[in-house]
Amino acid sequence: VKPVWNMHVLSPADLHFVVSGASIQKASMQIISSLEEMRTASRCAHADSKRIVLVPTMGALHEGHLELIREARKLADYTIVSVFVNPTQFGPTEDFNAYPRDLEDDRRRVDALGCVDVIFAPDVGEMYPDGTSMTFVSVEKMAEHLCGASRENHFRGVGTVVTKLFNICRPDVAVFGLKDAQQYFLIRRLVFDLNIPTEIIGVPTVREEDGLARSSRNKYLTKEERRQAPVLSEALSSVRTEIQNGERLSRRLIQMLRTRLSSATLGRIDYTDIVQTKDFQPVEILESGETVVAAIAVYFGNARLIDNAIILVP
Ligand code: AMP
Repeated sequence: VKPVWNMHVLSPADLHFVVSGASIQKASMQIISSLEEMRTASRCAHADSKRIVLVPTMGALHEGHLELIREARKLADYTIVSVFVNPTQFGPTEDFNAYPRDLEDDRRRVDALGCVDVIFAPDVGEMYPDGTSMTFVSVEKMAEHLCGASRENHFRGVGTVVTKLFNICRPDVAVFGLKDAQQYFLIRRLVFDLNIPTEIIGVPTVREEDGLARSSRNKYLTKEERRQAPVLSEALSSVRTEIQNGERLSRRLIQMLRTRLSSATLGRIDYTDIVQTKDFQPVEILESGETVVAAIAVYFGNARLIDNAIILVP
């Protein structure tokens, strides 16, 4: 991964930084909820000359998260998985209260991997003693469109909690999923702008057999909605093909996405757009050699599903 803010030349293959090596079995995994204890554990790991990797999650762990953790353990020798449903990234009408939480199930899944040192699962009261924060970390411009437009203050909450987690855990490297592409690129920009000494690694989206991106929110889908949900990845695949075939007009590609998505009768489109990776601003004409993100969000009932394709324009 390039050490500078130079994302527009990277392809997804470059973003996926994999180091092959023997798997590391950990003798015992700690669950830490206290910030002070987490700080001490990180300090000890650093004092032992260990390289620390952090995988931030909101729990309800599935195969997508587990893949992030498997990649993480190849990058460092002390692995922290944080489980924290962060209130500041949810809007007042969003699913903060309903968001699935099952720390015992998360613990079992992580423990079975045998490579994690700590699950860091702080209480909201410790992370936000007043329930919220007076200080926020916002990445301007990159949060204007896509999820930033439909979820007010979402990325401000993400930027804030990730900065807090980095300050508590002091990771040398942190792993994020490309399923949340806007989040991934925004965090890269955040650490670049604020000189945070943490390397950010992206892992490609893990999917079900029919192409649906794994998500904790898939649990909300009814049987029929679940049957229709692969339309997201199908629409993105056709746009990828059209770009490979030479289509360069964003307007036409977006129209194609919308037509394809509207074939799912239970879906309601939130957004469809094509943006450049460097600032997440919409592109009108795709330029050869640049990397763009085709991104979509579709509601099925109360579940809001997102997906994207990161495409190097030939
Ligand atoms: P969440 O718990 O939804 O906040 O996700 C925690 C991390 O897991 C984020 O970096 C996500 O991008 C990543 N993630 C979630 N689902 C997937 C998936 N299907 N494939 C790869 N990464 C994922």
